[in-house]
Amino acid sequence: MNQINPQLICALTGKKKEEVPELPTLSALPSKYVQLVSKNIKKIVPPFESNLQFLICKNCGKKAQYNLGHLTINLRNYNKNKQAEVDEYVQPTGYFRCKQCNSAGKWDITNEYRIMLISALMMLSSNSEDSRFSLGENRLFDGSSHTYATDSEEHLLNTLMESKEDSFVWNRLGNLYYKGGRADLAACAYEHSIALNPQQTESLFSLGMILSAIGEAQEAANYLHKMLISSSSYRQMKASDLRDLLSNGLNELFHLNTLSNGVISVPPPIELYKEFHINIPSSEEGSIEVLEGEIVTDDLTSFYPIAELFMGERSKELPGNKKYFMKKKKKKRKRKK
Ligand SMILES: [Zn+2]
Repeated sequence: MNQINPQLICALTGKKKEEVPELPTLSALPSKYVQLVSKNIKKIVPPFESNLQFLICKNCGKKAQYNLGHLTINLRNYNKNKQAEVDEYVQPTGYFRCKQCNSAGKWDITNEYRIMLISALMMLSSNSEDSRFSLGENRLFDGSSHTYATDSEEHLLNTLMESKEDSFVWNRLGNLYYKGGRADLAACAYEHSIALNPQQTESLFSLGMILSAIGEAQEAANYLHKMLISSSSYRQMKASDLRDLLSNGLNELFHLNTLSNGVISVPPPIELYKEFHINIPSSEEGSIEVLEGEIVTDDLTSFYPIAELFMGERSKELPGNKKYFMKKKKKKRKRKK
């Protein structure tokens, strides 16, 4: 049982519901990487620690164990109405569908899970911490809030019914699968997002990171290079967040460069700039100097100067004192002499 929503296949292929099997397999997804990622999914560090609980499917009555991931508990709503079942106030990140009948979002909870949730509530209200839980409410980009990851998925897929070509919503769907522990479905959604918009910087980043984690170094680098080049025209992210995203991607490119003994370059190849019709970024002194500067891998801020160079015009939106490029670069010039 692959736990795939038939509606995802409809959205990807334009097929009608009747044309799609109720229990689809991965091969029904139009995707280059979904099977490869699925086969290697254990190589990807899970976004949250495992949180296995038994749930009972309201549709077929079968009880099975599911990985709920991180739980966000809405204490405010719980305090307003304690009559409802406690799981109605809990948003698990884990993406799961009934292992028996593939339906989703309608669950009866076990006593064990109920007790765990109530003790988590008591613990969190007394300010104790536990990485498996937090208080609050998760909202999607459009402000809507849903209980299970499959409810959020349905909302995003319905949104995509209205605007099939929205590469940003496809990116958000990819993020939902990724956080839900389904990097395979995430890769598929990111691929589709990039097919719709080859300069969807966030999808290029996320697909590159997934492929890198499963050892597909060349393919990963290709997406991360495109992430760098596309960033100067990407407007769906705050400038400071964009710089962090690029810095994470650059960090990965430096790792890939080391692992490949220099075969994979950190700067994107010139052909990619031509493909995207974007000029090669340069300062008065040229960009290559910066790439030879001091980089401390895994220290994000050490990548800020390069990230800002690729951001081009968008780096001007960063608050003045947060700009790293010119300041750092001059120091490096002196040291080199
Ligand atoms: Zn079921």
